[in-house]
Amino acid sequence: MAEKLILVTGGGRGIGAACALLAAERGYTVCINYHSDAGAAAAVVAAIESAGASALAIQADVSNEAEVLRMFGQIDERFGRFDALINNAGVLAPQMRVEQMDAARINRILATNVTGSFLCAREAVRRMSTRHGGGGGAIVNISSRAAVLGSPGEYVDYAASKAALDALTTGLAKEVAQEQIRVNGVRPGLIHTRMHASGGEPGRVGRLQSSVPMGRGGEAAEVARAALWLLSAEASYTTGSFIDVSGGR
Ligand code: NAP
Repeated sequence: MAEKLILVTGGGRGIGAACALLAAERGYTVCINYHSDAGAAAAVVAAIESAGASALAIQADVSNEAEVLRMFGQIDERFGRFDALINNAGVLAPQMRVEQMDAARINRILATNVTGSFLCAREAVRRMSTRHGGGGGAIVNISSRAAVLGSPGEYVDYAASKAALDALTTGLAKEVAQEQIRVNGVRPGLIHTRMHASGGEPGRVGRLQSSVPMGRGGEAAEVARAALWLLSAEASYTTGSFIDVSGGR
């Protein structure tokens, strides 16, 4: 039987790259979506190929419906199957209070983190659902502990987008539960990636790590292991669930 096909959005770096690398180790053929950093995505593809597995990098802005359709069309054409999705692509904006935020900023965050995840989940369901002749599959949404903590003074808009993503997880899990699709969420805490720099504070994990019960930030690979477990047959009775990967914070 051909290898299972997984799409990891925002798979060129950080948590997405860790998910892509671990998925390849676990036997998936991996499609790595990226937005602007073609070089980073190519490096992940090269790492996977040098380990003897198959991977393909696909550029698309997940917030753009036409680009999402094009990306899934490329996957159909090249592989003709679809088994798993990790909705990982996500953005935040420089730290500020709610009273300083304008609509352009808020909409940009929601477009990528919420609309983008909806669009990719929709295309995945259209391919995996037994209702549409598919063979089933699984989706993992990479949320954030921010969905629960709220990120006051930093990015409440980002936290709200992740709370919306959690509602997508809960609702879609129930909607497709009898169509052989499981939908779950992972809520990372403070993870060492470049994302914090886009919030204006590259050293954020170091500043806040004393607030983590385990006393340290997390690694992207630690998040990837939770996501890959949720996708695996080991999680066969788990849907609409969340794993917090946050050192207790
Ligand atoms: P990161 O290092 O900033 O990487 C973000 C990735 O998303 C990049 O590969 C980027 O692609 C991609 N991306 C951004 N906008 C996109 C778009 N419109 N379309 C397609 N791809 C897009 O972030 P990270 O820390 O690994 O975070 C990954 C996920 O984990 C995010 O959803 C984030 O909210 C969540 N998370 C992170 C932390 C943390 O502490 N790091 C904590 C909780 C949750 P390009 O590089 O090609 O532009």
